Amino acid sequence: MSNSNPELAALGKVGMMRQTQPDYYVMRLKAVGGDLSSGQLARIAEVAERYGRGGVHLSTRQGVEIHYVRSQDLEPARIALAEAGVEMGACGPRVRSIVACPGSETCRLGVIDTKPIARELDARYFKQEMPSKFKLAVTGCSSNCTKANENDIGVRGAIEPLWEPASCTDCGLCVSFCPVSAIGRRDGEGSGGEFRYESDEESCINCSVCSSLCPSGAWVVGRKGYTVLIGGTMGRIPRFASVLKRIVESDEELYALIEASIRCYREHGLKKERFGHMIDRIGLENIKEEIIEQAELPRVEKY
Ligand code: SF4
Ligand code: SF4
Ligand code: SF4
Repeated sequence: MSNSNPELAALGKVGMMRQTQPDYYVMRLKAVGGDLSSGQLARIAEVAERYGRGGVHLSTRQGVEIHYVRSQDLEPARIALAEAGVEMGACGPRVRSIVACPGSETCRLGVIDTKPIARELDARYFKQEMPSKFKLAVTGCSSNCTKANENDIGVRGAIEPLWEPASCTDCGLCVSFCPVSAIGRRDGEGSGGEFRYESDEESCINCSVCSSLCPSGAWVVGRKGYTVLIGGTMGRIPRFASVLKRIVESDEELYALIEASIRCYREHGLKKERFGHMIDRIGLENIKEEIIEQAELPRVEKY
């Protein structure tokens, strides 16, 4: 059978792809946030044994692929997987499986609970048609284990540090342990003319190193939430994502920004043009302005 068979062409849209070898297919499976139960893993193993060649390939986006499945076995294999709640993944110009790190549920460094966000994004957008492939990732903190800035939309746990002068012993350690040298000491600039420590908003990556490591507890968490990143991609023309908004404090605002970003891409994106390349064509500031307006959020000076 060939791709001119409309039934197989349709299968291609739901995570089944032709292999190099004639009549062999790859079955790409969905694992939202990289999660599968032991029962699902057992069923995947059974299906790989029965319909593939007894093994799986783990993709770079937390997906599981069964290779070497013959065309006539695709449907029975899909049904066997579906019975265990294992869904097919996506390929082509649509929203792919949502990636997430463990987040604050199990990781000591986590600032946000990543998995509920990944599941919500999956429910809202998975497999939706887009101008090109579209990837979303949720990462619990600035360690960025899921590489949020290589995704079309990235959500990263973030804190905004706040300096409390009364607790500070002026030891100077924070200046050296800030990973991006965002902290500076200013002489005579405190409220009573004494020193003060400041974090430069532009350079700060909202990582919580200062609030965790200050021996006197003088750096504290001011605000906590999500940094929303847009327009990241790897592939042939890589582009790191741009910050849409540094600290988003509510889920409502997070989802409004994501929805507005997706609408903006659907409206302006050319066929096969990645979101980030569209942003470069139109201009980052124009796109940010449109997204913020569409999200109907109150205007603030800095995003
Ligand atoms: S990104 Fe942060 S929260 Fe997520 S796994 Fe890495 S260190 Fe943990
Ligand atoms: S590490 Fe803490 S105590 Fe030391 S200078 Fe920085 S804020 Fe002050
Ligand atoms: S939050 Fe991180 S990047 Fe920002 S000032 Fe503190 S240590 Fe530096």
